Amino acid sequence: MENIKVFDVIIIGGGPAGLAAGLYASRAKLEVVSFEKLVYGGQVVLTDKIENYPSVTEASGSRLASNFYNHAVKFGLSIVTSGISKIEERTENGRNIFALTDECGKVYNTISIIVATGAHWRKLGVPGENKFQGRGVSYCATCDGPLYKDKNVVVVGGGNSAVEGALFLTKFVKKLTLIHRRSMLRAAKILQEELFKNKKVDVKLDTVISEIKGTKRVEKIVIKNGKTGGVEELYCEGVFVFIGQDPNTDLVKDLVKLNENNFIITDEEMRTSKEGIFAAGDVRRKVLRQVVTAASDGAIAAHVVEQYVRKLKGEEYK
Ligand code: NAP
Repeated sequence: MENIKVFDVIIIGGGPAGLAAGLYASRAKLEVVSFEKLVYGGQVVLTDKIENYPSVTEASGSRLASNFYNHAVKFGLSIVTSGISKIEERTENGRNIFALTDECGKVYNTISIIVATGAHWRKLGVPGENKFQGRGVSYCATCDGPLYKDKNVVVVGGGNSAVEGALFLTKFVKKLTLIHRRSMLRAAKILQEELFKNKKVDVKLDTVISEIKGTKRVEKIVIKNGKTGGVEELYCEGVFVFIGQDPNTDLVKDLVKLNENNFIITDEEMRTSKEGIFAAGDVRRKVLRQVVTAASDGAIAAHVVEQYVRKLKGEEYK
């Protein structure tokens, strides 16, 4: 029988979780390859400022992302710029392996997988949102903020992303209205304090957007107050939607157990319900989604994978 190349571990996703896993797996001298379909660094690249990664008082998201990347590559992580489109299980010489097909149709075999595919921005799902995406509706403050110099914009959401995004946008815009469906924001108190004292910001609580209107671009939104039932129109040129994230779990949804919101369920050692498949970072069910917890997940996953692989191969592990 022809001997095929079988990796010890394949890492899918090149955000902080995937790159930390790649660093640890490379240092453990595992045969590892990592896949990222877009840009290394994940969503962190789109973050203007990171000031809660311990030991880094302040850095741009792209700086932190390139540090993660360079660190992993320095220790020999091999990287393929492609997505994975299919995972199949196979038996090879009496042992179970996974066959992963990339976007070019090339197949990579591996004993184990670390899924670090992250999450994507959730949509509001109101009329006008899709029609005006890229023409006033945005999901990225750092990408599109400068386009709204001296304009009126709306930010939707009450979490850290919404408040951080809003604070960033105030550098450019004339006026910003933050709209949140409940009477309390969810964001960290330190961010809320900064938001409430910013003179460019108006916060509308207990309020939802029911429609985004315009002709060629966004011109106004229809909002409804959940307490009074009052409906009004608000003129604005931009609508930034930051209402949380949905995990990128389509690839593995038939292989591993997901929770009710489609996040991967793992134990503390990043094991999923499927032997040989591990998950790390924002894609898994967890209480705190931060760069620091993603990096920690990645390190744990690679460490546990090393034990798993060495045991399967009958190698000594200390
Ligand atoms: P999030 O914390 O889940 O907050 C989502 C916000 O959107 C909530 O306020 C939620 O309202 C609101 N929302 C959800 N669905 C909605 C809908 N259909 N219509 C209107 N509003 C809706 O999401 P996130 O802010 O994107 O943050 C995601 C994760 O990344 C969090 O764990 C967060 O802490 C982390 N993060 C951390 C930082 C940082 O530490 N610097 C920065 C960014 C993100 P309710 O409050 O009513 O549920």
